[in-house]
Amino acid sequence: MLLRLPTSVSEARECLAEGAIPVGGATLIWAAWQRDGFPEQAVSLREVPEATAVGDGVLGGAVLLHQVDDRVPEMLRQAAKGVGTGAVRRTATVGGNIAGSSLRDLLPAAIALDAWADVLTADGVHRVDLAEVQAKSPLLLALRWREPVRGAYAKVADPAGGEVPTIAAAAVDTEGVLRVAVREGYAVTSGSVGADGGGVEELFAGALSGVSEAGRSLVREQVAKVRGE
Ligand SMILES: Cc1cc2nc3c(=O)[nH]c(=O)nc-3n(C[C@H](O)[C@H](O)[C@H](O)COP(=O)(O)OP(=O)(O)OC[C@H]3O[C@@H](n4cnc5c(N)ncnc54)[C@H](O)[C@@H]3O)c2cc1C
Repeated sequence: MLLRLPTSVSEARECLAEGAIPVGGATLIWAAWQRDGFPEQAVSLREVPEATAVGDGVLGGAVLLHQVDDRVPEMLRQAAKGVGTGAVRRTATVGGNIAGSSLRDLLPAAIALDAWADVLTADGVHRVDLAEVQAKSPLLLALRWREPVRGAYAKVADPAGGEVPTIAAAAVDTEGVLRVAVREGYAVTSGSVGADGGGVEELFAGALSGVSEAGRSLVREQVAKVRGE
């Protein structure tokens, strides 16, 4: 297998057009390649400046999880810190987590931040929402967001005893909108309301109606934190 290390977006685009398979830290894909066979070529974004940027509302897709520091909102940092083991966090990337894994601990925090993504295809760079990232797993160049006023994040063992921890994330943006995202099992649900009080119960009647009572309680705790209650 040829590992290609482009140093610009246009070179990365050529690699994709020539069929190279995206690889981050290979914490997941290596096992799949060993089982199913290695591709002829793979492409890593680790030398592409747009994919390694951190700070000022940007988190690059090739940034390692252990490099997610106080240049990004606390809730994203907490999410990255909670992934797997130290060895995984020193190797796995933001893009591999959000676009290439099934657990995706960073995703609820990114949704609550109202983040969007710059993705790279053989046609060029496109700005897409996180629903599209979830649906299509495109090559994530970077996550972008507007700084929230306040955010909160929690990951706890599934109260029902399942293998996948429950995650709740909440943030209030500069316009006062409250956004909430919850992961129960592998499913992530989310919703938003005006932050002028009371709205979270409306979410449980609508967008978050499938969230369990334990999940709701975790959401209420995060909302109370962002509202300073
Ligand atoms: C021991 C262990 C514990 C773990 N615990 C957790 C946990 O608690 N929470 C959690 O969320 N995850 C957990 N994971 C999964 C972890 O999130 C993934 O292993 C990791 O994020 C994958 O990142 P990677 O950079 O190594 O991706 P790779 O293994 O390199 O790639 C995985 C997939 O992502 C694709 N990909 C790579 N980079 C990009 C990109 N920039 N854009 C789009 N697609 C891309 C690849 O093509 C491939 O399909 C754990 C994994 C291990 C091994």
